[in-house]
Amino acid sequence: MDYKGLVSRYKDDLIKDLFGLLEIESVRGEAGRNAPVGDGPKAALDYMISLGERDGMTGRKVDNLAGHLELGQGEKLFGILGHVDVVPPGSGWDTGPFKPVLEDGIIRARGVQDDKGPTMAAYYAMKILAAEGMDFKCRTRLIIGTDEESDWQCTDAYFKSEEMPDAGFAPDAAFPLIHGEKGITTFNIIQKQTSLDDEEPNIELKVLISGERYNMVPEAAEAKLKVLQNMSEVIQSFEDFLRRDDIDGEYEIDNGFLKLSITGQSAHGSTPEAGVNAGFILLEFLGGLDLDNNATAFVDFAGSRIMDNADGAKFGMAHSHDELGDTTVNTGMINYTEVDGGIFGINLRYPEGLDFKKGVEELEKAIYPDGFIIEDVTHQEPHYVDKHDPLVKVLLDSYRNHVNDDSEPFTIGGGTYARTLEKGVAFGAMFKDTADTMHQKNERMKVDELLLATEIYLEALHRICIKGEMDEN
Ligand SMILES: [Zn+2]
Repeated sequence: MDYKGLVSRYKDDLIKDLFGLLEIESVRGEAGRNAPVGDGPKAALDYMISLGERDGMTGRKVDNLAGHLELGQGEKLFGILGHVDVVPPGSGWDTGPFKPVLEDGIIRARGVQDDKGPTMAAYYAMKILAAEGMDFKCRTRLIIGTDEESDWQCTDAYFKSEEMPDAGFAPDAAFPLIHGEKGITTFNIIQKQTSLDDEEPNIELKVLISGERYNMVPEAAEAKLKVLQNMSEVIQSFEDFLRRDDIDGEYEIDNGFLKLSITGQSAHGSTPEAGVNAGFILLEFLGGLDLDNNATAFVDFAGSRIMDNADGAKFGMAHSHDELGDTTVNTGMINYTEVDGGIFGINLRYPEGLDFKKGVEELEKAIYPDGFIIEDVTHQEPHYVDKHDPLVKVLLDSYRNHVNDDSEPFTIGGGTYARTLEKGVAFGAMFKDTADTMHQKNERMKVDELLLATEIYLEALHRICIKGEMDEN
């Protein structure tokens, strides 16, 4: 089949339908009547359903949060999972984020790369097969979510009432293919016990604050101290500390309080070693001071359990997997107040083979004597499809038939939309040399890449849903 030729015949329609979708401001908003995540996401869902119905597909909506467009018949169900919600546009755009423009072969608009462009590419792959009068061997569904950028209420609602596809892919990441994702957890380690019988300490730690999100390495940290004696010595040791390790930091005396601040380096929570945790640096300095009892317990605990723990060994949860790599731990938030004690916000990611629930239970027991407990645990299991699975093989082949690239399928520490499918992988639509502009100003996608992705999806669906190649294997 001439995949390239077919897609080029539909080029103008594809771009026109994509522009219609890009014009919808589908940022999550206030819940309204029949619009649980706002009118914008709902309008984008309605738009896709109406395109499908125009093109002879069967449409269905679930709770105005998700929906699908279906073609073909048969016992098996193949799924493609995309989303039509977008993150807020932010500022600094050269043109209106919801006024798509095509300039020099590049489309610029919020969502063109994540995930409206790729979703429309997959949609056209389905549409072209139907328009060519192909006979589907399985039911083929484009599942459309409207809350991927926030809470995934869309897929939660959808799979509560709808059938789980036997296999599928999500065009919401990168080529060639992501076949494994780590388990993702967040939890808080909270200081419960406060020591009341305090001898006169020299320094009272009033406040420490660092980081705002579990999934980012904190790039700033601040502490407020009440120094009862020898303020100048404390300042001197802080300056020595900064100089010795070439650290970016400052101090200030404000109303009798000493304020210290540190600047580190931010990084994504899945790669904590790529950043410099500003909170850890500040804790290291505080560890050398004569602090009040409660602050000492907090700082000592950080030293024994929290810092130098990027592999989870201090939690008893270090683990390694050939394909999925190692456990990683990011301490994304560190907060302390004199009144409430301390809290560490942890983002732990782990490969297959670790029993996280057991690990966290044992950690809780181990830290209890130190006066700390664990709360607010969230947990997503690792997601893994074997590299030799027929799904991976057919998709990878389809990709390689269009792109001169022998890269192997890979795994990541982050999570993609594919993990909501029981047997699903992330497949496109960023190519090896694509500039990743997702969630950024002037988000863009080359028309050539849009068409190339459509060709790849067309071949993949042709082989899986028309020729039944996955069943033969
Ligand atoms: Zn996305």
